[in-house]
Formats: sequence, structure tokens, C-alpha cells
Amino acid sequence: MTTHRITLLPGDGIGPEIMDATLEIILAAGAKIEIDEIEVGEKVYLAGNTSGIAAESWDTIRRNKIFLKAPITTPQGGGYKSLNVTTRKFLGLYSNVRPCRSLHPFVSTKHPVMDIVIVRENEEDLYAGIEHQQTDEVVQCLKLISRPGCEKIVRYAFEYAKQQNRKKVTCFTKDNIMKQTDGLFHQVFDEIAKEYPEIENEHWIIDIGAAKMADTPEAFDVIVMPNLYGDVLSDVAAQITGSVGLAGSANIGEECSMFEAIHGSAPRRAGQNVANPSGLLQGAIMMLNHIGQTEIAEKVQNAWLKTLEDGIHTYDIFKEGTSKQKVGTREFAQAVIANLGQKPSILKPVSYSKDAALVLPKYKRKPAAKKRTGRRGHLRALARNGSKRTGRESKGNRNPGRHALHDYEPGNQSVAGRF
Ligand code: NAD
Repeated sequence: MTTHRITLLPGDGIGPEIMDATLEIILAAGAKIEIDEIEVGEKVYLAGNTSGIAAESWDTIRRNKIFLKAPITTPQGGGYKSLNVTTRKFLGLYSNVRPCRSLHPFVSTKHPVMDIVIVRENEEDLYAGIEHQQTDEVVQCLKLISRPGCEKIVRYAFEYAKQQNRKKVTCFTKDNIMKQTDGLFHQVFDEIAKEYPEIENEHWIIDIGAAKMADTPEAFDVIVMPNLYGDVLSDVAAQITGSVGLAGSANIGEECSMFEAIHGSAPRRAGQNVANPSGLLQGAIMMLNHIGQTEIAEKVQNAWLKTLEDGIHTYDIFKEGTSKQKVGTREFAQAVIANLGQKPSILKPVSYSKDAALVLPKYKRKPAAKKRTGRRGHLRALARNGSKRTGRESKGNRNPGRHALHDYEPGNQSVAGRF
């Protein structure tokens, strides 16, 4: 097994405690990693660096390519950039994968058969950072969606479903209102879905889709969506499995990848040895799979499932009658270590032999269509084709560059040419 050098960020709040617990477990299981630790987050922000990270830390992250990160605290008030958003964009971590599975009957949940994976686009949408003040009373945030961004994330979702033997990929958008931006996401979803006939596909408008997911999560399998919807709904999905403290996430790019818990730094719980380290441990398990240490990942996951099955629970999932022992962060880690090599007997044990990193084809830019700009170009094209203007065009929809995407056939290259 190859030893991998990873960058490690202990984070703020409960971060250092859950990171210690996670490292202790994966090293006890035999993970072959070397570690470069960096200091990033609250202290760096408060020392006057508004991006929360020093230039040399970026060098370490880029050199090692694999980054295990505990949550950090973004100080309140203006001027501080979110390091999470910066990291995802700076490293091109386009795919955020968040599995949310219930652990019934050992972790209390209203959804005993839930097992969904949210694949969230991670760089674009309203998180592109294009926000400004228009007038004294009006501010604006622009939603950016590109064809390359859509193709990469949708293909990732289908390839992930194929690798994990999952049956269905669902797309959530609001393209009945945002016809161009969400329309493009939906259109690309429909195009790429055709390349995977063995996997069922469907599209839901986000509002009713979200309601259905919160009420009947067993109706879904893999769900792919633009950035903001994915951010919100992955927290909902994790919480309804039993606790936001249980879910991990992988942020995958073409070169670098980052692994973390989905929750924040929970400052009120810091330093008390109470936090649940499971979310970060799940992130670390995805990291081990990604770097090819699938046997270690499998061993850790099965020991973690067995520990939950034994009723050894941190405060956030502890329930009288179901749980056997309320433990702190360190004691939970020790219990998982004691279970290494064992498998759960009621929960389904995992097998990760096929879980190595996905290798996707690089996005190839489509040749841009000849541009027809404005009314004159449109009229020239009509004259060339000998067509008459249709009633709809004569009512003001005269600039083909401004049509909603629904006016284009799938695959129409003039759409790609505009991004
Ligand atoms: P949070 O996720 O930190 O906490 C929400 C609730 O969940 C709290 O009641 C907390 O006690 C509980 N909780 C979270 N993780 C837990 C765990 N592992 N074990 C037990 N209970 C847990 O969200 P917040 O309070 O909105 O944010 C706190 C700080 O975290 C903010 O500064 C925010 O910017 C930051 N944050 C960081 C990240 C990240 O670094 N990836 C993500 C989200 C929020």
C-alpha cells in the first residue's frame, strides 16, 4: 500500500477534538499516511488575514493534493471571506458528495430506510461571489451556471451511481422560474442521462422535491443539484438521519480533493469532550477510499457501525432505551478502535473493494456556434433562410441571444458558445 502525504487542518471549536479522535482511529486501523498540519481559520482571520489562510498553507495544500479538514469558525462581521467557499473554488473542487444514511434502529430517526447521496455542484451558482451594491437601497448577487460546470457535476453523479450500483439519479432545479440558469442544468442532466440507460433518471422542481425528500427520503437514491440547493438540502438530509454530526463529505476536483464533516465548528461544545467525531470520521473514510486504501476504509466503517450498534453513543444521538452508554469524543474513538476487525450484525456491513477514486473524462469544449448577434444578425439569418417572422418573434422575443434555454433544442451549441 502506498503511503500518501496529506494536509491536515485541525480547525476551530470542536475541530481539534474530533480531528484527534478521527486520526487515532484511522491510524490504529493501519492507514498509511504522512501528515503536514497547517493553521487556518479563526486565529488567522483575527490576526488580520481576511481570507483566513496564509500563502504557504496554499502551497502545502496544492503540493499534497489530499486535504483532511475539520470545521472552522468564520468570525462574525463584514470583511471575512468564507474559507470553505474559497478552498472549493481555488482548488476546483467541483463535486461535493454527501452520503446520508439512517442507522435504524440504533440511531433514532423518523426515516428508518433512508439511504441517499447528495451530489452538490460546488463552485458556481450564487456562490460564485459576484455580489455588489446597485444603489443605496439595492444589492445584487448574480447566479452563474456554466455548461462545463453542469456537465462535470452531472456526469460525476451518474458515474458515482454506476460505481456504487445505485439505481436512480434525480435532478432538483427551479427551471420553471430560472429558465436559463437552472434550465441549463436541467437540460444538461437530460442530455447526460441518455448516456446511462441502465440508471433511472428523473427531475423534480426543487420546492416540491425538497418537501418530498424531507417526508419520504426512501423515494430517492442519488440526487444532483446546483450549489445553493445542495448546501441547504444536504444539511436537511443529514439531520433527518438522526444528527448533523453523523455525515461526512468529499469535495472532489480534477487534481485536489478535500474531505470534511458537513457540520460546523459548534463553538458552544468546544473543549468539553462531548462532540460526535462521526462526521469527520466519515470524511476520512471517503478520503481513504479516494487514495486507494479501501481495505482500511472498510475496516474503520464496519467498526464504527458496530460501535453504534453496541449503543455507545455521544450526546447528540443518545436516547434512553436505545442507547447503552453515553460517551465523550475520546471514549467513542476508543470504542471504535476496540471494534476494529469486527462487523455489525444487524446493520449491513460495508464492502469497499470497488470504491477507489472515480476517473472522469476531462471536459471538452464544444466548438462555438457562429454568433448571430442582436436584431440585425437575426434578420440576416431570417433573410438567408427565407423564413417569415413567427407571431411569437414579432411580439418582442427578437434577440435569439436572449431566449430562455427552453427555446433551444438539447445540444444546441449556441448555448455552450455563450459561456
Ligand atoms: P454547527 O454545525 O457548528 O452547529 C449546529 C448544531 O449542531 C449545534 O447545536 C451543535 O452543537 C450541533 N453539532 C454540530 N456538530 C456536532 C457534532 N460533531 N457533535 C455534536 N453536535 C454537533 O453550525 P453553526 O452553529 O451554524 O456554525 C458554527 C460555526 O461553524 C460558524 O462559525 C460557521 O461559520 C462555521 N461552519 C463551518 C463549516 C466548515 O468549516 N465546513 C460548516 C458550517 C459552519
